[in-house]
Amino acid sequence: MRGALVRLTDAWTEILRRRSSGSPDGAYPLPVKNMLGEMVAAATLMQSSIKFNGSLILQIFGDGPVKLAVAEVQADLGLRATATVIGEVTAGASLSTLVNVHNQGKCAITLDPKTRFPGQQPYQGVVPLFDDRREKLEKLSEVLEHYMLQSEQLDTTLVLAADDKVAAGLLIQRLPLQGTGNLAGRLVSQANEDEIGLNEHYNRIAMLASSLKREELLTLDVETILRRLFWEETLIRFEPMAGDTAPRFACTCSRERVSNMILGLGLEEAQSIVAERGDIEVGCDFCGAHYRFDPVDVAQIFRVAGDLPPSSTAVQ
Ligand SMILES: [Zn+2]
Repeated sequence: MRGALVRLTDAWTEILRRRSSGSPDGAYPLPVKNMLGEMVAAATLMQSSIKFNGSLILQIFGDGPVKLAVAEVQADLGLRATATVIGEVTAGASLSTLVNVHNQGKCAITLDPKTRFPGQQPYQGVVPLFDDRREKLEKLSEVLEHYMLQSEQLDTTLVLAADDKVAAGLLIQRLPLQGTGNLAGRLVSQANEDEIGLNEHYNRIAMLASSLKREELLTLDVETILRRLFWEETLIRFEPMAGDTAPRFACTCSRERVSNMILGLGLEEAQSIVAERGDIEVGCDFCGAHYRFDPVDVAQIFRVAGDLPPSSTAVQ
């Protein structure tokens, strides 16, 4: 079995701080914090358990008050997250009342390689927020366990918890009998499939892991959690990630990326925004940074791309 435990404090509170101070919408309601924190913890666990040079993006496309929630973790465990909330979130709202009110909610996991071959698309897997009996799932951990079973054909147990100070998670996974599992579902082995749900060691350790309570995961240190759960098991501990190698807040936005986005709008659209507002201003939902492009900057973007001759005065 393989296990990983993550406990995010500074990285998580930094995400919340930037939201409450940088966004006109203000701080997230508590149920949204809980959901987004669990997403961040889960994405960190998944990224750290695969060998993948690129970003892992966990998204929920909701049909309730939360329209979109994103947690993105880079290969070096730099991470960021955001959620778009439109509408009333009631206190204690469940997962389905946040994102799956009309049965249209979906969860997507994207693996976007750092360097792509020409024409290569990022891998994306999408799962509905239902179990096999079409019951709405109320735990993000169940949604992701279902996904991992389908894509990796490996039994996975996840315990997730978050509040406004800590985002934490425990992942237990049965190691593949042959080859190595990966989220992109390239591992198709009959031997692995036959073992699903039947490995007694996995079942025992999964049951121990599942007994971990939300409060324990949020408040206890790693030593205590491991001792409580697995004191009868043989544990091989790896060095905890700390300092520069630990998960931390990092936004990948840049002025150059926003320039490319403006380029993607096309000259006509960009010019009409400039004509209407005087400039183009783009805010980053993840970190709160603001990028402002005045008419000269906008003209420059298209001039570099060759859409405007050097002497053009089309944008003034
Ligand atoms: Zn940013």
